[in-house]
Amino acid sequence: MVSLLQSAVGGWCLEDPFEERSDIMKKRKEKDFFLALARWFDAWAGDEVVAEADSYKIDWVRSLPFFALHLMCFGVIWVGWSWIAVTVAVSLYFVRMFAVTGFYHRYFSHRTFKTSRWGQFALAILGNSAVQKGPLWWAAHHRHHHRFSDKEGDVHSPHRNSFFWSHMGWITCRKNFPTNLKAVPDLEKFPELCFLDRFDNLVPLILAVSLFTFGAVLNLFAPGLETSGMQMLIWGFFISTTVLFHCTSTINSLAHKMGRKRFDTSDESRNSLILALITLGEGWHNNHHHFPATVRQGFYWWEIDITYYLLRLLSWTRLIWELTPVPKRVLQSSRLG
Ligand SMILES: [Zn+2]
Ligand SMILES: [Zn+2]
Repeated sequence: MVSLLQSAVGGWCLEDPFEERSDIMKKRKEKDFFLALARWFDAWAGDEVVAEADSYKIDWVRSLPFFALHLMCFGVIWVGWSWIAVTVAVSLYFVRMFAVTGFYHRYFSHRTFKTSRWGQFALAILGNSAVQKGPLWWAAHHRHHHRFSDKEGDVHSPHRNSFFWSHMGWITCRKNFPTNLKAVPDLEKFPELCFLDRFDNLVPLILAVSLFTFGAVLNLFAPGLETSGMQMLIWGFFISTTVLFHCTSTINSLAHKMGRKRFDTSDESRNSLILALITLGEGWHNNHHHFPATVRQGFYWWEIDITYYLLRLLSWTRLIWELTPVPKRVLQSSRLG
């Protein structure tokens, strides 16, 4: 009777399909867990599997270092503050904001000036110290944003998804962790850049250890400064990096909502002096979306663009060259005259 029933329904129903399915799900979850852990150390681990998953769900395990970065800021309750620690935090904010806007954005994403191969590697290391993943990942996602800006498929549009998603939600989801190498063939050909992209926590780790050591040495040899290894680590690394992340993110969220639109772009990008000041020039976002090929984001002398001034200074040392200017025809297409 049993064999008759078995043959009638294909033989599988007696094996309990639910148990089998839950077993597959359990195995997949285990695999996902270990893969997410592996990607803390090697950002490219199992890229094909993650790309296949195509999931917009938050990857909690993979995002744990990002959440920890925020939580560690509360360490200030225990370590207190000192002038030296706060000065280091503020200095590192500005140096690394310049590295993000000047190098990750204006060089790696848009190639608005030139440098040597060694120079390029140095720019990538500095950009990497901002703890915003590797240069290829950053450039690939940013180029994607320009292609689909505020349209279906834009990874961080506050007009397609929530404001929170455009600000920080998008970087915690599984779909956005892999580096789309097809978007950055010009960068993929350099193995040293690929190395930094794969092991994107290496430079931040070196920075964190250096800051702790610096604080501990000051504590030992200059106790009058009233700092310590932990205090320097909390201020110089965790607080500085978290503030840096959120200020950079305003360009993905607020700069598509707040300010004036000089050019008739097909997206909702805006120009804002406040955002330009906190991001060293990135707030002239409507200018940038209108003509991303130039090294300048402030198109006029009154549009303060500190990154551009610093890049000009750097060009005098001949470390970088061929800074692309804003063509006259671009300025003439302004809506505001
Ligand atoms: Zn934008
Ligand atoms: Zn851009």
